Amino acid sequence: MAGLSEEERRRYSRHIMLPELGVAGQEKLKAARVLCLGAGGLGSPAALYLAAAGVGTIGIVDDDHVALSNLHRQLLHGTNDLGRPKTESARDRLASVNPNVLVRLHACRFESGNAQEILRDYDLIVDGTDNFATRYLSNDVAVFAGKPNVYGSIFRFDGQATVFAPHLGGPCYRCLFPEPPPPGEVPSCAEAGVLGVLPGIVGTLQATEVIKLILGIGESLIGRLLHFDALKMKFREFNLRRDPECPVCGQHPTIRAPIDYEMFCQGAPDLTAAVPQIPVRELQARMSSGRPFILLDVREPFEFEMARIEGANLIPLGELPARYRELDRAREIFVFCHSGVRSERAAEFLRSAGFAKVANVAGGIDAWSEEIDPNVPRY
Ligand SMILES: [Zn+2]
Repeated sequence: MAGLSEEERRRYSRHIMLPELGVAGQEKLKAARVLCLGAGGLGSPAALYLAAAGVGTIGIVDDDHVALSNLHRQLLHGTNDLGRPKTESARDRLASVNPNVLVRLHACRFESGNAQEILRDYDLIVDGTDNFATRYLSNDVAVFAGKPNVYGSIFRFDGQATVFAPHLGGPCYRCLFPEPPPPGEVPSCAEAGVLGVLPGIVGTLQATEVIKLILGIGESLIGRLLHFDALKMKFREFNLRRDPECPVCGQHPTIRAPIDYEMFCQGAPDLTAAVPQIPVRELQARMSSGRPFILLDVREPFEFEMARIEGANLIPLGELPARYRELDRAREIFVFCHSGVRSERAAEFLRSAGFAKVANVAGGIDAWSEEIDPNVPRY
């Protein structure tokens, strides 16, 4: 356990005189490592209070630059910081609040490829992000690592906070919302209007929960969603339950690796167009042409045992969200199932995940055995 210097004992004296904290509690804070996702509206008060409270290591993930429209709520950054990377102005501001804190900068996006590696060096996450992609990702990697995810969100005049920690008995974000909304239903990932002081309140609630978790005192927000209405000046509380069927923390998880949900915000192909169909005769012609492609079978393993098309890769539809990264985006992908319905859904999913060259095999393996290869059993 890290000892406290004379300066630290003076700095934290109002903490140390709390019997629930004492020197031992302050040393726990000094030893703690907290990862703040986002140095924006929520991350600002959270990081400022955590630094002031003496949390020893604070990591900041943000790839954004300070803009004028940030300043009405993001108090980590000042007018002189306009145009600077948010990580850098955050580091300077936190250093002036408390030079004892080690601030580690991650000037990048929190993505499926780096999320687990970044989280490895921290004890818990403060989720201050404003988009579905990072929210689901931070939830999933926190569950995988068995680390609490202290959640906050804001919209206009309303805010919410809770602590997701299945390893401590509470639910995770996916217990409440198993999948992100389909791309077409997400109105916009750009920020909506928000009362500037609102993230100050919610981010401070998050910092409070972090400190309690580190110290092991009080009753945490695990299993409770706290809702704050700034216009009515009312807090309300909702009980949250763990879902035994949750795809990430449930009894039979189907998601075991980070998924990239970036496409919900940008770079998605034209999803309004129908999925292209490829007739089985054309598929047969492509096979004999020798031009490479991926033949993807999204049926269940027992169906694969009964009947299969030579050269197909089996990834059942239900496993696709967790396994689609096994597929090469650059290749053409022809998806089939029994009759073409599940494969159409799979093709739609792959296109939403950024796969541009996907087609559905019309009629599925049933059409294949009827029109092309009678040796493939029909079922
Ligand atoms: Zn869950």
